[in-house]
Amino acid sequence: MLRRKRSSTEPQNSAARGNDGYIIGPVEMSVRHSVGSMLSKIFACYRPWLACLLTVVSLLALPGRAQKQPVRVIAFGAHPDDCDLGAGGIAAKYAARGDKVKFVSLTNGDAGHQSLRGEELANRRRAEAREAGRRIGIEYEVLDNHDGKLLPTLEVREQVIREIRQWNADMVIAPRPNDYHPDHRYTGVLVQDASYMVIVPDLVMDTPALKRNPVFLYYSDRFTRPEPFRGDIVVSIDDVFEKKIDMLDAHVSQFYEWLPWTEGLLEQVPKDPAERKHWLAKGPLATRKLHPEWRESLERRYGAQAARIQHAEAFEITEYGHQPSEEEIRKLFPFFPDQ
Ligand SMILES: [Zn+2]
Repeated sequence: MLRRKRSSTEPQNSAARGNDGYIIGPVEMSVRHSVGSMLSKIFACYRPWLACLLTVVSLLALPGRAQKQPVRVIAFGAHPDDCDLGAGGIAAKYAARGDKVKFVSLTNGDAGHQSLRGEELANRRRAEAREAGRRIGIEYEVLDNHDGKLLPTLEVREQVIREIRQWNADMVIAPRPNDYHPDHRYTGVLVQDASYMVIVPDLVMDTPALKRNPVFLYYSDRFTRPEPFRGDIVVSIDDVFEKKIDMLDAHVSQFYEWLPWTEGLLEQVPKDPAERKHWLAKGPLATRKLHPEWRESLERRYGAQAARIQHAEAFEITEYGHQPSEEEIRKLFPFFPDQ
């Protein structure tokens, strides 16, 4: 029971001060004393059993803890929702395992809407990105560069280098530098330009360099010039497809307003939140086609299960980072069945 707080000069009489700093009276002291002595008797009686139980639990937990090093992944997009489309599925899978994933949007998305703009839109998109990250259990950062105006400057390259170093990334994902949108293209260039510099100690000296170059990957895309995307690593996301849709659903300003408007689909968007989420899961905005060329990679790692896979995310290994062996790929992507 809480009583008034006493000043240090107040006489104590028969009252005493409890652990919480409040005065307790004689009856309360006696109750506390009885409960305390009862608990210590119970503890004394069961102490040998408790010690035994704790030893067994720690013996069981230790080998697992020693083995499990979380995979650390950082993904870059030009806009708050780009990473989600390209790698939202694997991010949900990593998060469920306790691995560490961060999405970074290089622009604040302040040009991506038909009626909102500027600070108001940037704030809305930042909140949507935060909510998207929360829904699958990853970190999401939105940098304050302007949407539609991203350039591969030294300043932004250094932002990218800092992000990769601070995350101590094992793996970095970014778009290829061939794309319809200049912000996407330059995000590809910026991450490409950072992909060796992250280990050079004399650059960006305020953030210690990585000891080892991470593996750098490209998201999948549909562009064919100068050469088409190559699906080196293809991961089934059937088990987390609903989670990915839930993540995309957080970007209300994009999937239910801006993108349908650009595609002439705005009239089709249902008003009801549950119905529009269903519409998103079935429609063309959120789903990426599982290309026939990815089948070979799927079969190589999933064997007979590959034929049943409906949804997948694919990645190409760039030539500029660490070149992983098959064993390293299986450690970085701990999702494939044992061979
Ligand atoms: Zn984008």
